[in-house]
Amino acid sequence: MAPKRGILERLDAGEVVIGDGGFVFALEKRGYVRAGPWTPEVNVEYPSAVKELHREFLRAGADVMQTFTFYASDDKLGNRGNTAAQIGCQAINQAACDIAFEVANEGDALVCGGVCQTPTYLSGKGKEACQREFEKQIEIFLKNDVDFLLAEYYEHVEEAEWAVESCKATGKPTAVSLCIGPQGDLHGIPTGECAVRLAHAGADIIGINCHFGPDECIEACRLMKEALDAAGIKKHLMVQPLGYLTPDAGKQGFIDLPEFPFDVSVNAMTGAVLSIHTKLAALEPRLMTRWDAHKFARDAYNAGIRYIGGCCGIEPYHTRAVAEELAKERGKLPKASEKHGPWGEGLRLHTKPWVRARARRSYWENLNPSGGRPFSSSMSKPDNWGVTAGDKDLVQHKESTTQEEMDAVISRAANKELVVNGDH
Ligand SMILES: [Zn+2]
Repeated sequence: MAPKRGILERLDAGEVVIGDGGFVFALEKRGYVRAGPWTPEVNVEYPSAVKELHREFLRAGADVMQTFTFYASDDKLGNRGNTAAQIGCQAINQAACDIAFEVANEGDALVCGGVCQTPTYLSGKGKEACQREFEKQIEIFLKNDVDFLLAEYYEHVEEAEWAVESCKATGKPTAVSLCIGPQGDLHGIPTGECAVRLAHAGADIIGINCHFGPDECIEACRLMKEALDAAGIKKHLMVQPLGYLTPDAGKQGFIDLPEFPFDVSVNAMTGAVLSIHTKLAALEPRLMTRWDAHKFARDAYNAGIRYIGGCCGIEPYHTRAVAEELAKERGKLPKASEKHGPWGEGLRLHTKPWVRARARRSYWENLNPSGGRPFSSSMSKPDNWGVTAGDKDLVQHKESTTQEEMDAVISRAANKELVVNGDH
């Protein structure tokens, strides 16, 4: 078999590269990842679950198998009593590489080794300590000879610059994406300026992932492109948004929306937790439909973005919709379209005539789907605690969270709710 063409070769030729979706959320819903720490020890514990998800994304048209190594740095694995530390960074990253390579080689996909933000940064331990965490992961990626590296999910451009430096030092093509929106990073650095700084740090591909829905992510990428153009810098752009719609999100994105990630009911008077649902129950009403994913793909393409993927909430059927929308530009349809056909074509085989009438693009493109919740509003009010790097509440913590610490944050939350409701 001819060697695979690299990521920059593909992007330099103007091709669309489709990324995969959100492994953390997808595997949490399937019962393999714990919501809260969101660490990927499943690679070691249930490798077949990770492999099957990679396979579904490959079949849906993804050109990149990103190692499921999100939050697999040693400091994060041992945060607040997480027992994943016993498995450790090396074993998890190696297992993730084995799985990603196996599936990538079933098609023409590239393997990308991913690192992300660390508790070490939030604890203010500085550049050297952060880079040590990244480099322990990168060492495994190099040993496995991944096709390229991605530093993703940084809410502070400073930490992303340090990660890019560590990635670039290997000589591998390096992509970087921030989990910020059009309002800038959490230290107040404008989104466009962040892109220019990441270019100067040496990144080859620059963009946005997670924390916001497609519209806000594309707008943030547009600001990045504008600033890069103004600085006379030419870089490839990437976007991997949430699979949720977040027009109401503030600077911190969906983390601040009350639906993230559970529905926690708190008695506003006493601060007592009434119920915690142990599923990602509350974000679902915001989920993109496959038709929203068509629009996202077209909007991203029109904005000049050529690396188009997904993050939390993006499932393989969204990826398939992206691949179907861009089938003409890519000159191919994904394997998963064998059972689908763009715009509901298969509905021509339906028994009911009114359903057969829906086997057309104009029907689905113009549909405004209902939520089915009579008392549900279309938007929420973000929490806006404004706690970010430098705050003592974010300092790295190896011990489990104590009841006193829980009481403190819950009463703080309850007080905020009273203020919001005007009773305080
Ligand atoms: Zn995400």
